[in-house]
Amino acid sequence: MSRVFNFSAGPAMLPTAVLEQAQAEILDWQGTGVSVMEMSHRGKEFMSIAEQAQADLRELLNIPNNYKILFLQGGASTQFGMVPVNLLGNRQQADYFNTGIWSKKAIAEAKKFCKVNIVSSSEDNKFTTIAKADEWQLDPNAAYVHYTPNETINGLKFHGIPKVGDKPLVADMSSIILSQPFDISKFGLIYAGAQKNIGPAGVTIVIVREDLIGEAMPKIPTMATYQAHAKADSMYNTPPTYAWYLAGLVFKWLKELGGVEAMTERNKRKAELLYSTIDDNDFYNNPVVRKYRSKMNVPFTLANSDLNKTFLEEAKETGLVTLAGHRSVGGMRASIYNAMPEEGVQALVNFMGDFASRKG
Ligand SMILES: *Cc1c(COP(=O)(O)O)cnc(C)c1O
Repeated sequence: MSRVFNFSAGPAMLPTAVLEQAQAEILDWQGTGVSVMEMSHRGKEFMSIAEQAQADLRELLNIPNNYKILFLQGGASTQFGMVPVNLLGNRQQADYFNTGIWSKKAIAEAKKFCKVNIVSSSEDNKFTTIAKADEWQLDPNAAYVHYTPNETINGLKFHGIPKVGDKPLVADMSSIILSQPFDISKFGLIYAGAQKNIGPAGVTIVIVREDLIGEAMPKIPTMATYQAHAKADSMYNTPPTYAWYLAGLVFKWLKELGGVEAMTERNKRKAELLYSTIDDNDFYNNPVVRKYRSKMNVPFTLANSDLNKTFLEEAKETGLVTLAGHRSVGGMRASIYNAMPEEGVQALVNFMGDFASRKG
């Protein structure tokens, strides 16, 4: 059996070393005679797994002590609704940046609970650039400011953390968490579904400043409040134990490789190699303004879209899979999260060069 290079946007490829360790431990976790899947979430074995994963994530992201880390279910999409119902407090409006398809989904959900002020929209330029700070329109009455640092579908990334004054800054980091350093103290709340850059689908990480917990709307389900999860250390009900364990293995793997700093360098090399291949060859195009290009998700089109199907078929034969762009954007997209090795990107650019010279 041979593994392929999987460029899926999510669920994305996981490090082989992590899958091998999970395989080795699947029937009998460290002499307990049971699989992690079969353990009580309140037993000391799983508690040690849970605590270690949490401590490793805190170390990797340098998360200050006044922030809670929650391991929840429901994906990033559930957070689109949990953020407003927990953070609005007695305010009726919130600020949102509209920089792509995920921003739009977050905005649509927030609109059920409050008035949404659009700070800046990239819709007119088809999500290929982000307005400069002096053009942003922040609402002084907003309860918080929400943005999507990396738009997974459009391949659009913020340059730096937006300065929004003393309002809590909320970020959907689903496709950028752990790929580069962030100063967590600049945020009120961060959330991320795991299946891009953390682990398998099923667990969602929320990092929330403690003083923002406890202001949830009164008539919402307990499960939708950060308070219930924070008070119970993410064990208010049965957490996604196996996904939590796998995320922990990924954190350990990251630490062994040198942490987020080492990943940042590696991700930079991968992205530069891929974008330079696209830019240097007329056969390929990426429309995003350079400064705002994502280092995780690289959409690109072929000069002749009639060749899309052939491109995907030949790529697959070469062991390069899931390169089709999102159905709403078309073309191709290569997602190159932490687990994608440099050899994977090298193999892709070799194939792209070869394909263009034969068909271009
Ligand atoms: C994938 C993704 C989502 C949706 O995540 P789910 O876990 O499937 O709900 C939301 N936001 C961003 C930025 C994403 O990349």
